[in-house]
Amino acid sequence: MAEEKLSFQAEVSKLLDIVVHSLYSNKEIFLRELISNASDACDKLRYSALTQPELLSGAADFRITLTPDKTARTLTITDNGIGMNKTDLVENLGTIARSGTANFLSQLSGDAKKDVSLIGQFGVGFYSAFMVADKVEVITRKAGETEGWRWTSDGLGEFTIAEDPTAERGAKIILSLRAGEDDFLDGYRLRRIVKTYSDHIALPVVLIEDGKEETANSASALWTRSKSDITAEQYKEFYHHVAHAFDEPWTTLHYKAEGAIEYTALLFIPGQKPADIFNPDRKQHVKLYVNRIFITDDCEALLPSYLRFVRGVVDSQDLPLNISREMLQHNPVLAKIRSGLVKRLLAELKSKAEATDGDYQAFWNTFGAVLKEGLYEDFERRGDIMELCRFTTTASDEPISLATYLSRMKEGQEAIYTISGDEIEVLKRSPQIEGFLAKGVEVLLLTDPIDEFWPNVIGTYQDKPFRSVTQGTADLSAIKGTDKDDEKRPEPAASDAMAALIAAFKLALGEQVKDVRSSDRLIDSPVCLVADDGDVGMHLERLMRQHQQPGERAPRILEINPRHPLIRRLASEATADGAADRLKDTACLLFDQARIVEGEVLPDPASFARRLSAVLEKIA
Ligand code: ADP
Ligand code: MG
Repeated sequence: MAEEKLSFQAEVSKLLDIVVHSLYSNKEIFLRELISNASDACDKLRYSALTQPELLSGAADFRITLTPDKTARTLTITDNGIGMNKTDLVENLGTIARSGTANFLSQLSGDAKKDVSLIGQFGVGFYSAFMVADKVEVITRKAGETEGWRWTSDGLGEFTIAEDPTAERGAKIILSLRAGEDDFLDGYRLRRIVKTYSDHIALPVVLIEDGKEETANSASALWTRSKSDITAEQYKEFYHHVAHAFDEPWTTLHYKAEGAIEYTALLFIPGQKPADIFNPDRKQHVKLYVNRIFITDDCEALLPSYLRFVRGVVDSQDLPLNISREMLQHNPVLAKIRSGLVKRLLAELKSKAEATDGDYQAFWNTFGAVLKEGLYEDFERRGDIMELCRFTTTASDEPISLATYLSRMKEGQEAIYTISGDEIEVLKRSPQIEGFLAKGVEVLLLTDPIDEFWPNVIGTYQDKPFRSVTQGTADLSAIKGTDKDDEKRPEPAASDAMAALIAAFKLALGEQVKDVRSSDRLIDSPVCLVADDGDVGMHLERLMRQHQQPGERAPRILEINPRHPLIRRLASEATADGAADRLKDTACLLFDQARIVEGEVLPDPASFARRLSAVLEKIA
């Protein structure tokens, strides 16, 4: 029979090289990976058979078997699931398609010791078989097809594929064990590994030894068991299996909803940020089962996007089994389940947020930016989500709730002040917050892109409006703060002098600015830019430009600080004859400086450089 030789994708070769040469001590996880794949394959077939029952011809009882052969020194793992055809084999076992393994590769540091420990964390899927085997054969036939195939590799860069008429539906994986790995032929050892890692698998994992069969796991879907019968370790293993993740779940939520609509949910919030959390598809990841039969892991209607960090399963008898994925989107029962899930998840977060153990902080740092999307997407739950939000502020590196913010507001303060940008540290040095800092008024430092959108949609919290300190006028005079240093600062320039200076600046800058005005938000800086009320915010405009969505550029307002020594001096000269002409370059320089502070790219850097050199020349 013709045998075809093919090369692994370069990334797979790299991965295999690490796997084969690693001295990773916890090699037994290969079995967890292969059993997990077998279980997924059975789930897939069971689902396809709902609409194409002919796929099941023959065995409909799904199971996984483990057969050690001490003479041949092989361990064989079989399943009667969906199987693979030739294209599947090349794609699934010759390239890296899945994010978990790709993630593993992206984390590689080049430090052999560190990289090897990653194997344990990520599992590396099918390829982990090469940790214990120097030859792996996969004999497989896809459900509904007649041709069978044999995939063979020693894990050294190449694999072969040939037709195999003996293949039965599903997959049989034969591992020829490396020298010294005979331990994996021992029934006792195998049973223990299955118990440890695969007990939650909903199908029987059967050990076949000397012709005798024995089921080595509990073989009941974990979520159907009662909470008191499940150990923390079992929950964790299940999480690893269902989420294709290898971290500690931050929280586990297991409950049965009873009433008009019944369902069981076993949900996890991961401890670490999944690599695809900011993918544009914003897909949720909870798997849907109907009466223990896997339906889909791609049901958008099950959870809103802002909870897409949640992993786990939902199982209900109240949904029809043979419903198409498209129909699911509009199913009223599913809508009720969704609303129940959201309620429970938010309640769980609330109780964690109210606990004083500081654990909530870890969640917020990992997924806060995602949860915040709910502020503008989920009208109904906006209030609940608002209470769960935490913010870094000018007064606190430890993020605080809005309730805390309100409790610290100054007398006369009517708004919740915000500033948005890319980095906390840069925001803290923004000129626009100087006046607020001096009066002890706290400002929320917003650095997530989503922060550009929700404050406008929400408008207020407890009747206090959100107000950007880089937009509109600052009404600082009404706020009774304790600005101890106020008296030490110089008097503002005389108002007629300021008026003349402002007129000169306006003349110099023309259309480039919307207005020039005296500022009361500045303390140490001479100038700053602000957006006019109703215009696009400055940070948002920059974000849109970064994402190739240049809209109209809104001209900004240049505010100048009447108490700054430089401005005072310029003002004192501004009423003299011909002052406007002399002030032209200075106005341009200060305007450019304000733009640089904002992180803007100067449209005419050459003129800026020329003016700056001219100034430096005078002082040199
Ligand atoms: P993952 O399980 O995360 O997708 P693996 O490396 O474990 O990654 O497996 C790669 C792919 O190979 C699987 O997604 C699946 O399509 C296919 N596969 C592996 N084992 C089997 C099996 N026993 N039956 C059918 N397909 C399988
Ligand atoms: Mg796998």
